[in-house]
Amino acid sequence: MKVLNLQCAHGHGFEGWFASNDAFDTQLAAGLVECPICGDTAIVKMLSAPRLNLGNPKGPQAQETSSRHAVTEVSSPEARWMRAVRELMSKTEDVGDRFADEARKMHYGEAEERGIRGQATREQAEQLLDEGIAVMPLPLPAALKETLQ
Ligand SMILES: [Zn+2]
Repeated sequence: MKVLNLQCAHGHGFEGWFASNDAFDTQLAAGLVECPICGDTAIVKMLSAPRLNLGNPKGPQAQETSSRHAVTEVSSPEARWMRAVRELMSKTEDVGDRFADEARKMHYGEAEERGIRGQATREQAEQLLDEGIAVMPLPLPAALKETLQ
């Protein structure tokens, strides 16, 4: 597994996971590597910053040095946000535009409690909040919405 630090033409930094450097080159040439933030396929490889202690959290403190720090710095806030969003996506059910109905049903015990996501208008969201139903806005980058549909 190769973890590469990549950057798109718009300057978004992100990590790409590939079987090998060759696999990256092949996928890049085929236009399969795209920026998770804006969907750009003009990707360049940044200076590689090897991950130390991967799978070995008890590694010597001495190895917690500049390399790991470099990984943290090139991992942009957007990239970290994208990971959090993907995590959330994997744990919630997409109910689409039935979001307000489903949230209300769960609140009043008419449907099973579970994590849901979907679309709601501003008015619907305000009504839910008025009824004491917790909803959270989740602004998603356009690139991610497209890949999930
Ligand atoms: Zn980008």
